[in-house]
Amino acid sequence: MIRPPRPFGERSVLGSDVRVVRPLLGACALALVAACNSSPGLPEPEDLPGAADEQAARIAHHGPAVDLQESGTQRFVGKAYDRFDVARAMETVAFMDERVRTPGSPQYDEVLDRVAADLEAAGFGSHARFELEFHESTMDAPAWIPRRARVALALEEGGERVLHEFSRSADVDRVMLPRNAPSCDVRAKVAFSLDELHEGEVLVTRTSLRPDLVQRAQRKGAAAVVSAALAGYNEDFRGDGRHLDAIQYREVAPGTSMPVMQISPRSFERIEAETLARGEATLVLEADVELGERRVRTLVAAIVGGDRRDEAVVFFSHVQEPGASDNASGAAGQLESAIVAIDAIRTGAIEHPARTLVFVWGMEFEESEVWLERTEREPFAAVNAVMVGNSRENTGAVPLLERYPDPGAVATLAPDKHTLWGAGDVELDWLVPNGVSVVARCALVDVSRHVGGDWETYENPWEGGTDHDNLIKAGVPVVLFWHFPDFTFHTSLDRYEMVDGEELRRMSVAALATGLALSDPRPMDLDRYLRSMAEERRVRVEAAEEAERPIVAEAWREWCLGVQHWFRALCLSIELEPSAALPISAGEELQDSQFAAEDEAAEEAMEEDGEADEGDDAEDAVDASSGE
Ligand SMILES: [Zn+2]
Repeated sequence: MIRPPRPFGERSVLGSDVRVVRPLLGACALALVAACNSSPGLPEPEDLPGAADEQAARIAHHGPAVDLQESGTQRFVGKAYDRFDVARAMETVAFMDERVRTPGSPQYDEVLDRVAADLEAAGFGSHARFELEFHESTMDAPAWIPRRARVALALEEGGERVLHEFSRSADVDRVMLPRNAPSCDVRAKVAFSLDELHEGEVLVTRTSLRPDLVQRAQRKGAAAVVSAALAGYNEDFRGDGRHLDAIQYREVAPGTSMPVMQISPRSFERIEAETLARGEATLVLEADVELGERRVRTLVAAIVGGDRRDEAVVFFSHVQEPGASDNASGAAGQLESAIVAIDAIRTGAIEHPARTLVFVWGMEFEESEVWLERTEREPFAAVNAVMVGNSRENTGAVPLLERYPDPGAVATLAPDKHTLWGAGDVELDWLVPNGVSVVARCALVDVSRHVGGDWETYENPWEGGTDHDNLIKAGVPVVLFWHFPDFTFHTSLDRYEMVDGEELRRMSVAALATGLALSDPRPMDLDRYLRSMAEERRVRVEAAEEAERPIVAEAWREWCLGVQHWFRALCLSIELEPSAALPISAGEELQDSQFAAEDEAAEEAMEEDGEADEGDDAEDAVDASSGE
């Protein structure tokens, strides 16, 4: 049994208040730049002229409003959008979608080679200013290459009923083998729990294939472990039950000797029905896998900057996951963005940027580690693009900006909210103010403006889980562009038809414009960024005061003052004072106040229902009902 599906609105990450952003007039803008140059104080929001323009564009960003001057990211959005070739980007998605591309495998290399060839054709590697290179690094384990697999139910009257199988990498059920699963050839009776399991039987469960489960099954002499687990967010948001045919993709530890497979909830039900009808069921499992080399490549393309060429603005997008949204879309969008950038720069459509633009493709986490380790450039800021093409119509996922860790990542107060992915643990020394999230928010709004104003975008405080975490740990300002919650996330359903080419263009252009604006800022951008930041400060401080959390309000004030310094240094090309490059001093107090608030909320909840917490880990929300 699965928990009854909730209507989409209840489970969604969406904030409800779409804000109307109004453009401001240029004269006031210049006055504000002057004021900021001479005064360390931030203008109070009420001092900012708010133009009640009836013609104001309605920009549907669910988050703080941004100023709409024609500066900052707006200088790049139209030029990038018009050059972005959706058909070519979708061809890249299709090419990747046919390949499972596990790290270091021949298919992984085929993808990187294709990306490199397209970059070369666009001019990368042809000139000292347009670099193209591969890095190689050693993996902890050999590359894992799935060849074929099959799982079937043995029928009483003889013969078999195939539940899942694949023999080509493009096949729908190609993810039924968790990465690092061994080859196998097993025929065994089914047990539905560890308690019932006898030696030589196959454990069939809705529980996730966690290491401890596999170990316990091994100790009891299981012949194999088969899991039908899905996460809570995998439930079909339309209520059509499409997830019942989904196979979650997972990995087990390298060297795992226990045969393991993933099946769909529908297959689980078939095995259960067979057992109910006959008193027992027998499964046939076959798998052929190969092990490859222990090396993985990272591809790096760069457009060498002008005055500040030793500083880099870096784009990351990983290629090794099998999904079309996750992450063929990110890798394909970034390829198109790199081509757009070199084309626009070579033709003079946009000026050669001051900082070097770097585009990195590779294995998730490894690519950012390799680049950070080997670059001689100073990483100035980074843009991570993952799951950027998800069709909202087909997957239910909305476009999101994940902000750099700010006070909202420690104490999240409405209208700010987390996605179903959930909050991450913030280290206090990450709370060094910077304006990358404001720049990225401007870029989302500018893209929405460019397409007529009705592209709805969202944002969430830092949650973590991909390459941006490595950048944060290295002290580099970074944002993540992504989509969530996608009911096909990490399942066999995340294929080509779930990607929307226009969505891919909108998100990729927002990511590219963010990077371009950071690589080549101008004094004219400052006023827009400061006004946008002042609007965020207003929203956050009001939320904190409403919630009677003065420490949160103070943390946001301190944060925004730091952001103001950061923007002045950025746009006016002055050095950031060392004192402005420190974590906010209110961090510890902020964290303590959050712990206290959580304790209080937990106490209240205990008093209210007096029941034990059932546990609501999103990962196991669907398994939890299996009655294991
Ligand atoms: Zn993923």
